[in-house]
Amino acid sequence: MPSQSASLPVVKISRRGAKRLQEGHVWVYRSDIISTNGVAQGTAVGVIDERGKFLGTALYSSASQIAVRMISSRAVKDLYGLLRERIRAAINYREKVVRDTDAYRVVFSEADFLPGLIVDRYRDLVSLQILTQAVDAEPVRQVIVSELSQHLKPAAIVERVDPRVRELEKLPARTSGLIQGEVEGNQKTSTVFTMNGIRFAFEAMEGQKTGAFLDQRENYAAAARYAHGEALDVFCYQGGFALHLAQACSAVTGVDSSRPALEVADRNAAINGRKIEWVEANAFDLLRDYADAGRRYDTIVLDPPAFAKSKSSLETALRGYKELNLRALKMLRPGGILVTCCCSYHVSPLQYLDVVRVSAQDVHRNLRIVENRGQAKDHPILINVPETEYLKCLIACLTS
Ligand code: SAH
Repeated sequence: MPSQSASLPVVKISRRGAKRLQEGHVWVYRSDIISTNGVAQGTAVGVIDERGKFLGTALYSSASQIAVRMISSRAVKDLYGLLRERIRAAINYREKVVRDTDAYRVVFSEADFLPGLIVDRYRDLVSLQILTQAVDAEPVRQVIVSELSQHLKPAAIVERVDPRVRELEKLPARTSGLIQGEVEGNQKTSTVFTMNGIRFAFEAMEGQKTGAFLDQRENYAAAARYAHGEALDVFCYQGGFALHLAQACSAVTGVDSSRPALEVADRNAAINGRKIEWVEANAFDLLRDYADAGRRYDTIVLDPPAFAKSKSSLETALRGYKELNLRALKMLRPGGILVTCCCSYHVSPLQYLDVVRVSAQDVHRNLRIVENRGQAKDHPILINVPETEYLKCLIACLTS
């Protein structure tokens, strides 16, 4: 129906690209683009197949390998209206699925049909990340900011810039900063949020991601249900798991290689009136040393950074995950709880389960899987977009 897309510039894609869209995915790679007719970067485009059949509306990037990100199977006449509607729908969804927290992800890019936009809420602060040319366009930014302020009424909105993303999208450099909410010259960029009854200090301009690992929120609570005795939280960052474990355990040690992260972790422990030991160390070295020294624990959490950033690093990544699990299992007392996580999208849930299984076999231990978990519900998974599912979190009990 070319008439439907008459007002939009048109991008023609290959049969392979069209098949992918028919299967429900929302991306078309550059290698599947046949013609763009010189469409400007970051604009909304109509997508057609080789025979001219209209497939839907997308946002176009002139730089990314993901050239086309679909936003609708229809011809979109009012892009800003659609964006407003999508943001409202994302907020409404969270109202249904998010409990016991004032910090959560409000918009998760493709999974909320808003490709290129991430929005996190930390109590009265909103932190956003813009990942594509289309979302970076000034009028689109204005729509996003006005919709978020209207519905979430935050004290401030902060933008976190990932310079690498901007470089890849060929966008001009930009610095992180407040984009709304300056009060009489005072920049409000810090707050304290509460998750599962535990309080966390939040500084919008510091830290990794947009500040905290909100995707683990439900796993923190689950881990605390089984945790007991002496606990070790490896890759603890600002203490997300450690603080939850402290509710149930007699002693908790958190390990991370980042001193700034541990300083926040220590502040978080103080806010909650908990005593936790923080150790600044390389986790691999520390696990080896502690295992050699015969240390034992009743609960161990492993939550490393993504080792497999691409498909090509998968083998090395799997070895890394295995080594961690092996060492942790050696130190676990019978009846002990292992909470083992993997946030690499390139490692599938089955592959990770296998890593844990083989690790247990290698050290002649048996495990019962108590819970097989993933990311929190505010990080939705779209069944046809496998890239939206990335976090694995197994909770297992050592039976022998
Ligand atoms: N469990 C945390 C998130 C962990 S993110 C939470 O729930 O908030 C991964 C962490 O691993 C980061 O804090 C990073 O500083 C740390 N890290 C990365 N490599 C490390 C290493 N080799 N040894 C110890 N910590 C490491």
